[in-house]
Amino acid sequence: MRVRTLAVVLLAGGLALTACGKEGGPGDTGSAPAQTAVSDVKVDGSATFDKMKSRGRVVIGVKEDQPGLGYKDPTSGKFNGFDIEIAKLVAAQLGFGDDKIDYKAIPSAGREQALINGDVDYYVGTYTINAKRKEQVAFAGPYFTAGQDLLVKKSDSSITGKDTLKGKKVCSVTGSTPIQKVKSENLTEPENIVELQNYSQCVEQLEQGAVDAVTTDDAILKGYASQSPDTLKVIGKPFSKEPYGIGLPKDDKALRDKVNDILQAALDGDAWQKAYDSTLGKSNSTAEKPTLDRY
Ligand code: GLU
Repeated sequence: MRVRTLAVVLLAGGLALTACGKEGGPGDTGSAPAQTAVSDVKVDGSATFDKMKSRGRVVIGVKEDQPGLGYKDPTSGKFNGFDIEIAKLVAAQLGFGDDKIDYKAIPSAGREQALINGDVDYYVGTYTINAKRKEQVAFAGPYFTAGQDLLVKKSDSSITGKDTLKGKKVCSVTGSTPIQKVKSENLTEPENIVELQNYSQCVEQLEQGAVDAVTTDDAILKGYASQSPDTLKVIGKPFSKEPYGIGLPKDDKALRDKVNDILQAALDGDAWQKAYDSTLGKSNSTAEKPTLDRY
Protein backbone atom coordinates (compact mmCIF):
# COMPACT_ATOMS: atom_id res chain seq x y z
CA MET A 1 0.00 0.00 0.00
CA ARG A 2 2.71 2.45 1.00
CA VAL A 3 4.74 1.52 -2.05
CA ARG A 4 1.72 2.16 -4.22
CA THR A 5 1.11 5.55 -2.67
CA LEU A 6 4.73 6.48 -3.30
CA ALA A 7 4.43 5.37 -6.91
CA VAL A 8 1.37 7.55 -7.37
CA VAL A 9 3.13 10.55 -5.84
CA LEU A 10 6.19 10.02 -8.03
CA LEU A 11 4.02 9.66 -11.11
CA ALA A 12 2.10 12.83 -10.25
CA GLY A 13 5.41 14.61 -9.65
CA GLY A 14 6.68 13.46 -13.02
CA LEU A 15 3.57 14.74 -14.73
CA ALA A 16 3.76 18.05 -12.92
CA LEU A 17 7.37 18.49 -14.02
CA THR A 18 6.53 17.63 -17.61
CA ALA A 19 3.71 20.13 -17.64
CA CYS A 20 5.95 22.73 -16.06
CA GLY A 21 8.60 22.14 -18.71
CA LYS A 22 6.10 22.69 -21.49
CA GLU A 23 4.68 25.82 -19.98
CA GLY A 24 7.99 27.46 -19.25
CA GLY A 25 9.56 26.74 -22.63
CA PRO A 26 12.28 24.12 -23.09
CA GLY A 27 12.30 23.05 -19.45
CA ASP A 28 13.82 20.17 -17.58
CA THR A 29 11.73 17.02 -17.80
CA GLY A 30 12.62 16.02 -14.31
CA SER A 31 15.93 14.18 -14.65
CA ALA A 32 17.49 15.84 -11.59
CA PRO A 33 14.96 16.06 -8.75
CA ALA A 34 17.12 18.11 -6.33
CA GLN A 35 17.70 20.69 -9.01
CA THR A 36 16.15 24.17 -8.77
CA ALA A 37 13.80 24.44 -11.73
CA VAL A 38 14.71 27.30 -14.02
CA SER A 39 11.01 28.26 -14.18
CA ASP A 40 11.11 28.87 -10.40
CA VAL A 41 14.10 31.20 -10.59
CA LYS A 42 13.47 34.93 -10.85
CA VAL A 43 16.13 37.36 -11.98
CA ASP A 44 13.97 40.33 -12.89
CA GLY A 45 15.42 42.56 -15.55
CA SER A 46 18.34 40.31 -16.52
CA ALA A 47 18.70 40.10 -20.29
CA THR A 48 21.38 37.42 -19.87
CA PHE A 49 19.18 35.22 -17.71
CA ASP A 50 16.26 35.61 -20.14
CA LYS A 51 18.57 34.42 -22.91
CA MET A 52 19.70 31.37 -20.92
CA LYS A 53 16.13 30.56 -20.07
CA SER A 54 14.87 30.63 -23.64
CA ARG A 55 17.90 28.65 -24.79
CA GLY A 56 17.34 26.11 -22.04
CA ARG A 57 21.10 25.91 -21.48
CA VAL A 58 23.82 28.03 -19.93
CA VAL A 59 27.07 28.78 -21.73
CA ILE A 60 29.97 29.28 -19.33
CA GLY A 61 33.40 30.55 -20.31
CA VAL A 62 36.24 28.67 -18.59
CA LYS A 63 39.89 27.68 -18.83
CA GLU A 64 40.72 24.18 -20.03
CA ASP A 65 44.44 23.84 -19.31
CA GLN A 66 44.73 24.86 -15.64
CA PRO A 67 44.82 21.75 -13.43
CA GLY A 68 42.93 22.14 -10.14
CA LEU A 69 41.04 25.19 -11.44
CA GLY A 70 39.68 24.75 -14.96
CA TYR A 71 40.87 21.60 -16.68
CA LYS A 72 39.49 19.48 -19.49
CA ASP A 73 40.32 15.85 -18.87
CA PRO A 74 41.78 14.60 -22.16
CA THR A 75 40.37 11.11 -21.64
CA SER A 76 36.81 11.83 -20.54
CA GLY A 77 36.50 15.26 -22.17
CA LYS A 78 34.96 16.46 -18.89
CA PHE A 79 35.88 19.68 -17.12
CA ASN A 80 37.03 19.72 -13.50
CA GLY A 81 38.59 22.05 -10.91
CA PHE A 82 37.62 24.71 -8.39
CA ASP A 83 36.47 27.22 -11.01
CA ILE A 84 34.32 24.53 -12.60
CA GLU A 85 32.76 23.70 -9.21
CA ILE A 86 31.96 27.38 -8.68
CA ALA A 87 30.55 27.61 -12.22
CA LYS A 88 28.34 24.56 -11.60
CA LEU A 89 27.18 25.76 -8.21
CA VAL A 90 25.99 29.06 -9.72
CA ALA A 91 24.37 27.29 -12.69
CA ALA A 92 22.50 24.90 -10.38
CA GLN A 93 21.01 27.81 -8.42
CA LEU A 94 19.95 29.46 -11.65
CA GLY A 95 18.11 26.28 -12.60
CA PHE A 96 20.66 24.60 -14.88
CA GLY A 97 21.90 21.16 -13.92
CA ASP A 98 25.23 19.79 -15.09
CA ASP A 99 23.57 18.38 -18.22
CA LYS A 100 22.39 21.87 -19.18
CA ILE A 101 25.84 23.46 -19.15
CA ASP A 102 27.99 24.13 -22.21
CA TYR A 103 31.58 25.03 -21.39
CA LYS A 104 33.51 27.25 -23.76
CA ALA A 105 37.26 27.43 -23.28
CA ILE A 106 38.40 31.05 -23.65
CA PRO A 107 41.99 32.17 -23.02
CA SER A 108 42.78 35.20 -20.85
CA ALA A 109 42.99 37.64 -23.76
CA GLY A 110 39.51 36.75 -25.04
CA ARG A 111 37.45 37.10 -21.87
CA GLU A 112 36.16 40.65 -22.12
CA GLN A 113 35.23 40.30 -25.79
CA ALA A 114 33.47 36.97 -25.19
CA LEU A 115 31.29 38.64 -22.53
CA ILE A 116 30.69 41.73 -24.64
CA ASN A 117 29.71 39.64 -27.68
CA GLY A 118 27.43 37.42 -25.59
CA ASP A 119 29.44 34.32 -26.61
CA VAL A 120 29.23 33.22 -22.97
CA ASP A 121 26.62 33.99 -20.29
CA TYR A 122 29.25 34.22 -17.58
CA TYR A 123 32.93 33.45 -17.15
CA VAL A 124 34.67 31.53 -14.36
CA GLY A 125 38.40 31.17 -14.96
CA THR A 126 41.00 32.72 -12.63
CA TYR A 127 39.62 36.11 -13.65
CA THR A 128 41.02 38.91 -11.49
CA ILE A 129 38.60 41.70 -10.62
CA ASN A 130 40.12 45.08 -11.41
CA ALA A 131 39.08 48.61 -12.34
CA LYS A 132 40.29 48.43 -15.93
CA ARG A 133 38.28 45.31 -16.67
CA LYS A 134 35.24 46.79 -14.92
CA GLU A 135 35.11 49.38 -17.70
CA GLN A 136 34.10 46.56 -20.06
CA VAL A 137 32.55 43.81 -17.93
CA ALA A 138 31.04 43.28 -14.48
CA PHE A 139 32.13 40.92 -11.73
CA ALA A 140 30.42 38.99 -8.98
CA GLY A 141 32.64 37.90 -6.12
CA PRO A 142 35.44 37.60 -5.25
CA TYR A 143 35.09 33.88 -4.61
CA PHE A 144 38.84 33.31 -4.07
CA THR A 145 42.07 35.29 -3.72
CA ALA A 146 45.33 34.22 -5.34
CA GLY A 147 48.69 36.00 -5.72
CA GLN A 148 51.21 36.29 -8.53
CA ASP A 149 54.12 33.90 -8.12
CA LEU A 150 56.84 32.11 -10.12
CA LEU A 151 57.24 28.58 -11.46
CA VAL A 152 60.81 27.47 -12.18
CA LYS A 153 62.84 24.31 -12.72
CA LYS A 154 63.36 22.43 -9.48
CA SER A 155 67.11 22.49 -10.12
CA ASP A 156 67.19 26.30 -10.45
CA SER A 157 68.58 28.07 -7.39
CA SER A 158 69.19 31.41 -9.10
CA ILE A 159 65.55 32.52 -9.10
CA THR A 160 64.29 33.13 -5.58
CA GLY A 161 61.70 35.88 -6.05
CA LYS A 162 60.47 38.61 -8.36
CA ASP A 163 63.64 40.68 -7.93
CA THR A 164 65.88 37.93 -9.29
CA LEU A 165 64.41 37.83 -12.79
CA LYS A 166 66.72 40.31 -14.56
CA GLY A 167 68.43 38.59 -17.47
CA LYS A 168 66.03 35.64 -17.23
CA LYS A 169 63.47 34.62 -19.81
CA VAL A 170 60.02 34.95 -18.25
CA CYS A 171 56.84 33.60 -19.82
CA SER A 172 53.27 34.71 -19.20
CA VAL A 173 50.02 35.11 -21.06
CA THR A 174 48.51 37.85 -23.23
CA GLY A 175 45.69 39.80 -21.59
CA SER A 176 46.63 38.72 -18.07
CA THR A 177 47.48 40.79 -15.00
CA PRO A 178 50.84 38.99 -14.47
CA ILE A 179 52.18 39.94 -17.92
CA GLN A 180 51.16 43.51 -17.12
CA LYS A 181 53.17 43.44 -13.92
CA VAL A 182 56.25 41.97 -15.61
CA LYS A 183 56.15 44.89 -18.03
CA SER A 184 55.14 47.74 -15.70
CA GLU A 185 57.65 46.78 -13.00
CA ASN A 186 60.41 45.89 -15.49
CA LEU A 187 60.91 42.56 -13.78
CA THR A 188 63.02 41.51 -16.77
CA GLU A 189 64.17 43.14 -20.01
CA PRO A 190 61.56 43.51 -22.80
CA GLU A 191 63.51 41.09 -25.03
CA ASN A 192 63.35 38.46 -22.30
CA ILE A 193 59.56 38.51 -22.02
CA VAL A 194 57.85 35.61 -23.73
CA GLU A 195 54.13 36.19 -24.21
CA LEU A 196 51.89 33.28 -25.22
CA GLN A 197 48.15 32.48 -25.29
CA ASN A 198 47.93 29.85 -22.54
CA TYR A 199 49.87 29.03 -19.40
CA SER A 200 50.29 25.39 -20.46
CA GLN A 201 52.30 26.66 -23.44
CA CYS A 202 54.54 28.60 -21.05
CA VAL A 203 55.02 25.50 -18.90
CA GLU A 204 56.05 23.52 -22.00
CA GLN A 205 58.63 26.20 -22.77
CA LEU A 206 59.93 25.97 -19.21
CA GLU A 207 60.20 22.19 -19.38
CA GLN A 208 62.11 22.46 -22.66
CA GLY A 209 64.47 25.04 -21.18
CA ALA A 210 63.36 27.77 -23.60
CA VAL A 211 62.34 30.03 -20.70
CA ASP A 212 63.56 30.26 -17.10
CA ALA A 213 60.31 31.08 -15.32
CA VAL A 214 56.56 31.15 -15.78
CA THR A 215 54.68 33.81 -13.88
CA THR A 216 51.02 33.91 -12.97
CA ASP A 217 48.80 33.21 -9.95
CA ASP A 218 50.15 30.80 -7.34
CA ALA A 219 46.96 28.72 -7.51
CA ILE A 220 47.56 28.07 -11.22
CA LEU A 221 51.29 27.39 -10.84
CA LYS A 222 50.73 24.93 -7.99
CA GLY A 223 48.54 22.89 -10.32
CA TYR A 224 51.34 22.60 -12.88
CA ALA A 225 53.95 21.87 -10.22
CA SER A 226 51.81 19.06 -8.83
CA GLN A 227 51.75 17.47 -12.29
CA SER A 228 55.58 17.50 -12.47
CA PRO A 229 56.76 17.41 -8.85
CA ASP A 230 60.18 16.03 -9.80
CA THR A 231 61.08 18.79 -12.24
CA LEU A 232 59.14 21.96 -11.33
CA LYS A 233 58.65 24.09 -8.21
CA VAL A 234 56.71 27.18 -7.19
CA ILE A 235 58.80 29.85 -5.48
CA GLY A 236 56.01 30.59 -2.99
CA LYS A 237 56.47 34.31 -2.44
CA PRO A 238 53.33 35.87 -3.91
CA PHE A 239 53.74 39.51 -4.94
CA SER A 240 50.22 40.65 -5.80
CA LYS A 241 46.61 40.12 -4.79
CA GLU A 242 44.39 38.52 -7.43
CA PRO A 243 40.76 38.42 -6.30
CA TYR A 244 38.88 36.06 -8.61
CA GLY A 245 35.48 37.17 -9.85
CA ILE A 246 32.78 35.72 -12.02
CA GLY A 247 32.79 37.77 -15.20
CA LEU A 248 29.38 39.02 -16.36
CA PRO A 249 28.03 41.31 -19.05
CA LYS A 250 28.63 44.86 -17.83
CA ASP A 251 25.11 46.20 -17.66
CA ASP A 252 23.44 43.15 -16.13
CA LYS A 253 23.20 44.32 -12.53
CA ALA A 254 20.28 41.98 -11.87
CA LEU A 255 22.37 38.91 -12.71
CA ARG A 256 25.38 40.24 -10.78
CA ASP A 257 23.23 40.68 -7.66
CA LYS A 258 21.76 37.22 -8.09
CA VAL A 259 25.17 35.57 -8.56
CA ASN A 260 26.49 37.43 -5.51
CA ASP A 261 23.53 36.11 -3.49
CA ILE A 262 24.34 32.59 -4.68
CA LEU A 263 28.01 32.98 -3.75
CA GLN A 264 27.11 34.40 -0.34
CA ALA A 265 24.85 31.44 0.37
CA ALA A 266 27.61 29.05 -0.75
CA LEU A 267 30.09 30.76 1.60
CA ASP A 268 27.62 30.79 4.51
CA GLY A 269 26.71 27.13 3.99
CA ASP A 270 29.15 24.35 3.13
CA ALA A 271 29.03 24.44 -0.69
CA TRP A 272 32.05 26.74 -1.13
CA GLN A 273 34.14 24.68 1.30
CA LYS A 274 33.16 21.44 -0.40
CA ALA A 275 34.08 22.87 -3.80
CA TYR A 276 37.48 23.92 -2.44
CA ASP A 277 38.20 20.70 -0.54
CA SER A 278 37.44 18.52 -3.56
CA THR A 279 39.77 20.47 -5.86
CA LEU A 280 42.49 22.94 -4.81
CA GLY A 281 42.30 21.84 -1.17
CA LYS A 282 43.39 18.31 -2.08
CA SER A 283 47.02 19.41 -1.95
CA ASN A 284 46.67 20.21 1.77
CA SER A 285 46.45 23.94 1.26
CA THR A 286 43.80 25.96 3.02
CA ALA A 287 42.14 29.11 1.78
CA GLU A 288 40.52 31.97 3.57
CA LYS A 289 36.93 32.51 2.65
CA PRO A 290 36.65 35.75 0.70
CA THR A 291 34.34 38.66 1.48
CA LEU A 292 32.10 39.68 -1.38
CA ASP A 293 32.58 43.09 -2.91
CA ARG A 294 29.11 44.29 -3.74
CA TYR A 295 29.96 47.40 -5.70
N1 GLU B 1 44.27 36.18 -12.46
C1 GLU B 1 45.08 36.72 -13.50
C2 GLU B 1 44.24 37.41 -14.54
O1 GLU B 1 43.05 37.44 -14.45
C3 GLU B 1 46.00 35.69 -14.12
C4 GLU B 1 45.36 34.41 -14.50
C5 GLU B 1 44.69 34.43 -15.85
O2 GLU B 1 45.29 34.93 -16.82
O3 GLU B 1 43.59 33.88 -15.96
O4 GLU B 1 44.75 37.96 -15.48
